[in-house]
Amino acid sequence: MGNGDEVAGEPQKTEVTGFTPAQALAIFKPCVLDSKLIREWVHGMLHPEPVPICPECGQVVESHQSRVTFSAGRRICCYHCRRFFNSRTKTILHGSPITDEQLFMIAALSEFSRLAGADDKLSRRYIAEITGLSIDSVKKWQDALRLLETPLV
Ligand SMILES: [Zn+2]
Repeated sequence: MGNGDEVAGEPQKTEVTGFTPAQALAIFKPCVLDSKLIREWVHGMLHPEPVPICPECGQVVESHQSRVTFSAGRRICCYHCRRFFNSRTKTILHGSPITDEQLFMIAALSEFSRLAGADDKLSRRYIAEITGLSIDSVKKWQDALRLLETPLV
């Protein structure tokens, strides 16, 4: 039976350590994401073209330094029309203070909720709690993201 390590009368510690689903969910916030990976992914989705194109005049950005700056999410100037733009200009993220991680979480959790058949209002409340945004803001972004599901004709 025993392997000899057990001492009669001494309490045995049999519980393994771990964590509960509720504990894991409690730290599940946008900051747990790999921010570099998310930034690059979001950037790639906003700009599937291989080189940056000025959203105002359509001119291809030739400067290597400008391309690097643009990819890093910073503002660049178009040498053709002299207008400034960044990777969010004229995209769904235009002018918004939302972070890439927050929007990514709204998108992924909304799809997860939809697939799981979760109640829209209830899941929106949890997504707001997780992302640190208001329920109204989450709803606004969900609506904006769903519009992208409809192909433009
Ligand atoms: Zn331009």
